[in-house]
Amino acid sequence: MADRIPVADGLFAETKDGARLIGSRCASCGTPYFPKVDWCRHPECAASKIEDAGFGPDGTIWSCAIQDYPPPAPAKFDKPYKPYAMAVVDLADGLRVLGQIKTDDIRSVKPDMKVTLVVDALCHDDAGNEVVTWKFEVNHA
Ligand SMILES: [Zn+2]
Repeated sequence: MADRIPVADGLFAETKDGARLIGSRCASCGTPYFPKVDWCRHPECAASKIEDAGFGPDGTIWSCAIQDYPPPAPAKFDKPYKPYAMAVVDLADGLRVLGQIKTDDIRSVKPDMKVTLVVDALCHDDAGNEVVTWKFEVNHA
């Protein structure tokens, strides 16, 4: 039986309150990091105090683009390649992060749209498992 497996370990989680990105935040200066870091890189931070943090699910598209051609390795996708929308999203809790947009209408994706972090299929591996990653789904009010 096919499984649902993350594209990489330790990057995201599905909680009862929705998807979260797994990162860090500096308790000293408040800087968010994704993925996790061991020390704060903010040049004006007086004392690096890194704590585990989860980010999401609410965000707003800052910038977006259509990935019209297959991305280079190590990017993964099912064949035949199907273009998708990518966006840089400002999460409400302070993190700016890149992700695919989950939509059937990639040309409708625009800056300032409200989105929600989700975990969704990226591709399938040779064993037929569904490989999942984080994406953003446009909110339809
Ligand atoms: Zn800091």
